[in-house]
Amino acid sequence: MIKRDIVIIGGGPAGLAAAVAAYDAGTRDILVIERDERLGGILGQCIHNGFGLHTFKEELTGPEYADRFIRQVKDRGIECKLDTIVTNISDTRSVTYMNGSEGVVTIEAGAVILAMGCRERPRGALGIPGYRPAGVYTAGTAQRLVNIEGKCVGKRVVILGSGDIGLIMARRMTLEGAKVLCVAELMPYSSGLQRNITQCLDDFGIPLLLSHTISKIYGKERVTGVDVSEVASDRSIMPGTAVHYDCDTLLLSCGLLPENELTRQAGIDINRITGGPDVRDDLETSAEGVFACGNVLHVHDLVDNVSQEAMRAGKMASAFVSGRTRTDGPVLKVVTEGGIRYSVPQYISPSEMEDSITVRFRVDGVYRDRKLCVYLGSEKLKEQRKNIVKPGEMEQAVILKKDLEPAAGTDTIKLCLED
Ligand SMILES: Cc1cc2nc3c(=O)[nH]c(=O)nc-3n(C[C@H](O)[C@H](O)[C@H](O)COP(=O)(O)OP(=O)(O)OC[C@H]3O[C@@H](n4cnc5c(N)ncnc54)[C@H](O)[C@@H]3O)c2cc1C
Repeated sequence: MIKRDIVIIGGGPAGLAAAVAAYDAGTRDILVIERDERLGGILGQCIHNGFGLHTFKEELTGPEYADRFIRQVKDRGIECKLDTIVTNISDTRSVTYMNGSEGVVTIEAGAVILAMGCRERPRGALGIPGYRPAGVYTAGTAQRLVNIEGKCVGKRVVILGSGDIGLIMARRMTLEGAKVLCVAELMPYSSGLQRNITQCLDDFGIPLLLSHTISKIYGKERVTGVDVSEVASDRSIMPGTAVHYDCDTLLLSCGLLPENELTRQAGIDINRITGGPDVRDDLETSAEGVFACGNVLHVHDLVDNVSQEAMRAGKMASAFVSGRTRTDGPVLKVVTEGGIRYSVPQYISPSEMEDSITVRFRVDGVYRDRKLCVYLGSEKLKEQRKNIVKPGEMEQAVILKKDLEPAAGTDTIKLCLED
């Protein structure tokens, strides 16, 4: 059986940053496996700028940002297998991959880092009435067709869902000469970043219809139009509100799902809300020596946060293969309440954590003038005023190790919003 110290599944920004950090922490035998024919993940098709403001203090395009990490991986001589798909992993860190030159190969990894990214929610998952005509694309597929393959996907476009990819594609399609008629969003708020609403819709006069959805798609061969209807607070369609739009293209930007089939196969605990694995503060999943980072763990809005998280996974995986063992100290469960939907990590070990840990979380609605509070058991550790928090923008709280040391007698850390 072939043995490798660290195997990283996915060569997107998460996998690349994890590889660099694992190398810099002292591990030399690292293998990155990527199913695409190039490294960089989804960033290769994101030719707009806005990447890397935190990491490099510069506004880069997606390919430029990815290239910075690809060069670091190459400079360190880290092996990357491209055009190679991982088909199975086990909870004891056997990794099976397949490619055209080697066939099916199984290797034993000292540690595994899951960095498989996420995929878009397809039309089938949305249940919109109508035939299955050409002209309905997920926004990311349209982005690849336009930006990588140089194809024009349509001339009159309606977009369902105001996730960041949909917003970015509204601008992209307009710049390509198409008319974007509207973006319809089911929720009373957008799930995208405010900067994308301003720069991609407002600047181009594209209306954002909140609390609206597509109630019917017309056309048998190719989309000929859609009905856009208002929805009530329970998200049911309000009869008599349908407005018809003549269009040849419908783009769907209705959410991203962490790509966790391999994780599930391995029997690793998956979080009901994030769709990614539950992890401890060192980003280890419920399987010993299997770490996770990036969009496979939870969907991020900014790639800078992905890189930061992935570097931590790389460093921790390196420590694991170097023989770091767990202590018997307490493990605290992070619980979320009062407007906070989820947090990552889900568990913190005060005796093993570094001096501080950044807990990332998302809220379940738009809240103004609230306090973010962190409790250790019933004791309030900190509060921080928030003028506004929105589901589309990931938030974070830094928790200090010294504050958790008197953890005896409690087994939870609570994050919540208070008036
Ligand atoms: C349209 C769009 C616009 C965005 N705009 C911005 C922006 O302006 N600014 C910003 O900061 N962020 C932006 N982001 C977010 C950022 O691009 C993502 O957060 C980041 O790419 C996530 O990195 P990742 O490595 O986790 O996932 P990915 O980039 O998706 O990489 C995952 C990789 O894993 C590979 N893989 C999956 N399964 C397997 C398998 N079984 N075997 C082998 N390989 C596998 C995939 O092929 C892929 O290359 C945008 C994202 C999108 C989609």
